Amino acid sequence: MTQTDAAAKNLGDPGKTRRVVVVGGGTAGWMTASYLTAAFGDKIDVTVVESAQIGTIGVGEATFSDIRHFFEFLRLAESDWMPACNATYKLAVRFENWREPGHHFYHPFEQMGSIDGFPLSDWWLRYPRTDRFDKDCFVMASLCDAQRSPRYLDGTPVDQGVFETGHGEETARATMAEYQGAQFPYAYHFEAHLLAKFLTKYATDRGARHVVDNVVDVALDEHGFISHVKTAEHGELAGDLFVDCTGFRGLLMNKALGEPFISYQDTLPNDSAVALQVPLDMDREPLRPCTTATAQEAGWIWTIPLISRIGTGYVYASDYCEPEEAERVLREFVGPEAADVEANHIRMRIGRSRRSWVNNCVAVGLSSGFVEPLESTGIFFIHHAIEQMVKYFPSGRDNDRLRNMYNRSTANVMDGVREFLCLHYRAAKRADTQYWKDTKTRPVPEALEERLENWKYKVPDAETVYPYYHGLPPYSYNCILLGAGGFDIRHSPALDMADETAALAEFERIRLKAEKLVQELPTQNEYFAKMRENA
Ligand code: FAD
Repeated sequence: MTQTDAAAKNLGDPGKTRRVVVVGGGTAGWMTASYLTAAFGDKIDVTVVESAQIGTIGVGEATFSDIRHFFEFLRLAESDWMPACNATYKLAVRFENWREPGHHFYHPFEQMGSIDGFPLSDWWLRYPRTDRFDKDCFVMASLCDAQRSPRYLDGTPVDQGVFETGHGEETARATMAEYQGAQFPYAYHFEAHLLAKFLTKYATDRGARHVVDNVVDVALDEHGFISHVKTAEHGELAGDLFVDCTGFRGLLMNKALGEPFISYQDTLPNDSAVALQVPLDMDREPLRPCTTATAQEAGWIWTIPLISRIGTGYVYASDYCEPEEAERVLREFVGPEAADVEANHIRMRIGRSRRSWVNNCVAVGLSSGFVEPLESTGIFFIHHAIEQMVKYFPSGRDNDRLRNMYNRSTANVMDGVREFLCLHYRAAKRADTQYWKDTKTRPVPEALEERLENWKYKVPDAETVYPYYHGLPPYSYNCILLGAGGFDIRHSPALDMADETAALAEFERIRLKAEKLVQELPTQNEYFAKMRENA
């Protein structure tokens, strides 16, 4: 774009950050481009360049409930995008066999109550109603067991209150990091490549330029800032800000700028995955409203129900399992439905770039960092990064303080999630193979080691979990700690003397509410069958 073009597009002072070049057209690239156009309209000029030869990762199908803020920021209602992306609802992650064969527990999207200053989990340890912590303390666990939809057949959501924000042009838009007040009761499963396609249209309709080409070179100026990227057929693309969305390659951030990558592999050894996309007959098979993570000999298998297919894959550590063995295990797990389906083997780079914003380059998505997909955090990292990018958007080059704050915030999120994932393996009672035995002695981040010792005497709360925002509230830690069963957790001694009346009433309220909702709500299959009828 010439300066005259910039002026014609009302891009203001060309010395400021106005031209943004996004390299990469996967989930990260198109989420970034869409969000920037939604945030700044025609005040900036966005170009997305993506290769026709280099594919996207293509998985990435389960999300956090906070993703709702992303769609809301784009002023999109569920009916605008869900059908286009074969999306379903996700109320929880269901963990199978992490404690012992045949056992399962949930990590739901539902805040846990607190009674007289003690988390409900603490009361549960003192006065368990059943042997199911998740069912006694959360309504969602029962809805998942009964495979319920979080919406009634007329579309009314199960928890109306948190949805009353609307999508009108005048409505103020909240971002997830600042808006921790209400817990949305569900997230989504969707086909990541369909979302990228949907967002391509969204962003290009709003003025983003789409270049399909390979970036063959990245040019730096004398200050180490990127001046342009060179493409094979479209010449040079100059910009003020470059967003590296090239996936595990980290073409701009790691290769061109040489920013080091900090591996998490010492604490999280799963570095490989094999994935299958299995056809699903919705008229015959149940659509579970949750992501399932089933523990295996050297890792775990994800199962993600979508409209018309199931996304599944085995995440494993290559130190313990060969790719052929992983594929064999996965195929056996899925059964004959996958016989004709081709497997996709993926090597994962686990960890994060030391900084995700260097000079005029921001890495978003896998180029910035990734932990294994156990709690579906990949798209959450992207969403968080682009919210923060807008929050700390620079006016020009001289913005060290903004960059530093951004870098601290994104590093905190990934380091926090790393701790949370390490907890899963330490807390899992399962220790039947060398892989699971080693999870009990493998180092975890030092601070987590200390926290784990404390949590044996006092369940996690806001004062004792990882202290910076990372998307996971204290109740999430309680779910894993008490669900996975590997630790002997004690209740607070004070509860032996405190009056339990209110706590017992709360358990009863949860039980009755769950019972009522299981009776009232349709199954996911019924809900989406109705949606199809209405379409
Ligand atoms: P990619 O999808 O790899 O896209 C890279 C883009 O860069 C492509 O468009 C490519 O063409 C382009 N590119 C690369 N080099 C060049 C070049 N030289 N010139 C031009 N273009 C170039 N996240 C979740 O939230 N939930 C999940 O359930 C989940 N499951 C996952 C399971 C696995 C096994 C893995 C590995 C990841 C999972 N993730 C999940 C993470 C999620 O897949 C990613 O966060 C997401 O897909 C973003 O990827 P990306 O856009 O950063 O990179």
